[in-house]
Amino acid sequence: MSARNTNQKQIVYEALLEHKDHPTSLEIYQGLKKRGEKIGKTTVYRILNNLVQEEKICRINTFNNVSHYDYVLDGHIHFICEKCNKIIDLENTKYLQDALKEMHINHNNLLIYGICADCKGDKEESLF
Ligand SMILES: [Zn+2]
Ligand SMILES: [Zn+2]
Repeated sequence: MSARNTNQKQIVYEALLEHKDHPTSLEIYQGLKKRGEKIGKTTVYRILNNLVQEEKICRINTFNNVSHYDYVLDGHIHFICEKCNKIIDLENTKYLQDALKEMHINHNNLLIYGICADCKGDKEESLF
C-alpha cells in the first residue's frame, strides 16, 4: 500500500473518532470536506469499507438502509430511535455475555428499534 493510501486511511479513521456519535459515511465525508481535505466521496466510502473488513471499525445498518459507523468495538448494543434516528449505545447485558461465552463472536449486529426517551413523551406505549 502506498504512503498516500495509508495517509488517507488515517485521515478517515480520525474523522470517525472526532464524530463520536455514529456518523454516516456522508457525515464523515462532509466533515473532511469542511476541514479542507482533498479526498473524494468514493475514496471515503471505499476506505470505510476496508476498515470494516479489517474489523477496525463496525458498520450499523439501520432500517432505512443508512450505514452508520462506530469505532468502539467492545460488543455494545445499539438502540435506534425511529423518530429522530439517534443511535444510543447500550452496554451488553450480563445475560447475553453469559449466553455467548462458549461462542466466538465474529460480528455483533444487535439493533433495538424504538422511540428514545427524548422523543417518547408520555403518550407512547412501550412493549415492556
Ligand atoms: Zn428520538
Ligand atoms: Zn456504538
